[in-house]
Amino acid sequence: ASGSDENDVVVIGGGPGGYVAAIKAAQLGLKTTCIEKRGTLGGTCLNVGCIPSKALLHSSHMFHEAQHSFANHGVKFSSVEVDLPAMMGQKDKAVSNLTRGIEGLFKKNKVNYVKGYGKFLSPSEVSVDTLEGGNSVVKGKNIIIATGSDVKGLPGITIDEKRIVSSTGALALTEIPKKLVVIGAGYIGLEMGSVWGRLGSEVTVVEFAADIVPTMDGEVRKQFQRALEKQKMKFMLKTKVVSVDTTGDGVKLTLEPASGGDQTTLEADVVLVSAGRVPFTSGLGLDKIGVETDKAGRILVNERFASNVPGVYAIGDVIPGPMLAHKAEEDGVACVEFIAGKEGHVDYDMVPGVVYTHPEVAYVGKTEEQVKDLGVDYRVGKFPFLANSRAKAIDDAEGIVKVIAEKESDKILGVHIMSPNAGELIHEAVLALQYGASSEDIARTCHAHPTMSEALKEAAMATYDKPIHM
Ligand code: FAD
Repeated sequence: ASGSDENDVVVIGGGPGGYVAAIKAAQLGLKTTCIEKRGTLGGTCLNVGCIPSKALLHSSHMFHEAQHSFANHGVKFSSVEVDLPAMMGQKDKAVSNLTRGIEGLFKKNKVNYVKGYGKFLSPSEVSVDTLEGGNSVVKGKNIIIATGSDVKGLPGITIDEKRIVSSTGALALTEIPKKLVVIGAGYIGLEMGSVWGRLGSEVTVVEFAADIVPTMDGEVRKQFQRALEKQKMKFMLKTKVVSVDTTGDGVKLTLEPASGGDQTTLEADVVLVSAGRVPFTSGLGLDKIGVETDKAGRILVNERFASNVPGVYAIGDVIPGPMLAHKAEEDGVACVEFIAGKEGHVDYDMVPGVVYTHPEVAYVGKTEEQVKDLGVDYRVGKFPFLANSRAKAIDDAEGIVKVIAEKESDKILGVHIMSPNAGELIHEAVLALQYGASSEDIARTCHAHPTMSEALKEAAMATYDKPIHM
């Protein structure tokens, strides 16, 4: 199908923003075409992001547990080893099953799928250089740009995806590096550092800023950094990478304090550049139709996801807001609802953030630092997983729940969890925040015993009263 008949909606990009928008549009009865250049659907997230990283995090965690924890549970075996090709194979299988699954959803919902590179000819026409080699023009009354983001490079450092890798290369190494240096202590760097650290790499994380994961609550961040250090991850904060030399066998990095000073060197077998991501609009022809972007290259949209050019919308990583898959999906649904003449809504203050290390860290709403800056009177309730019966039963009790509530009304302002599976536990808090709940609402809600979720109930109790088990 060429999509040459006029569509109600054309989506450029088949990532979590784009493919969800396309399915939703078709479900609302709109004639829809989605254009994707990669050859597979699911975008960064499914192909080289969320999904393959979680597959490797799980596999490497199992290896680490087998080495360090199974014996404590009375499970013994004489040796355990990593079969890296098999581990990568399981990751690749998960990715290909899921990308094919989205193609199936497109068929089921009658979304027309065009494989190729899209560029604007006009605000209602997209020319596609198809992967098969031809060209077709796809017309649409409404066009949604969902072209996502790309790795942010660092000046003077050339990514070859072998010795100097981006997250994409770090998801597909063919050997376990003896020494891995991670540039950038954001969640992607820490997750990939965890994967290779568990498999045996010596991991050093170099970060220009004073702190790891800047969006995290400060108190939780400190405990999190300690947890990673216990796993032998090394941190060099307030440190700048001046140059990277690949002329020898390994890689030699020259470093210097962020504020200037004496240079030092660091050796690595592999260097991961994970200093952030930038919006991707290359070759799209935004200039041609006059779509406005900000200094960072993000497309500027209003609360209805409309750009300054009538009929042209944008969602996901290519617009401002948290660069996360679930945020892109929410954008996609709301944008299409507006196009269909309905109401949509996404509140970026309610978008949870999760770091999928072990323990995981998950949070929603405001950090204590942000609440202080706002000058709001607040209370904090905390509960450690060391006092949670389920965490003790399974011998995996490193972590804490921290609830921040407005003092006068007891309304919850933020929840921060570090624990195994924190990324699952956080949704109770997301729902509470979304409904404007008080900490007492959570504390008086019956939670099943014994579960990790009870720690959230107790932290909520601690916010306005006393917890029972501390
Ligand atoms: P993308 O997923 O980037 O999709 C855009 C698509 O558009 C791409 O497939 C691209 O090929 C296509 N495209 C671009 N230009 C054109 C064009 N001109 N014509 C046709 N097609 C085009 N987020 C989370 O929420 N949870 C996680 O655990 C998580 N882990 C991550 C781990 C890693 C290693 C990385 C790199 C990212 C991770 N993210 C995670 C972030 C997440 O991947 C992104 O936020 C999400 O993919 C953004 O979705 P999107 O649809 O806006 O863009």
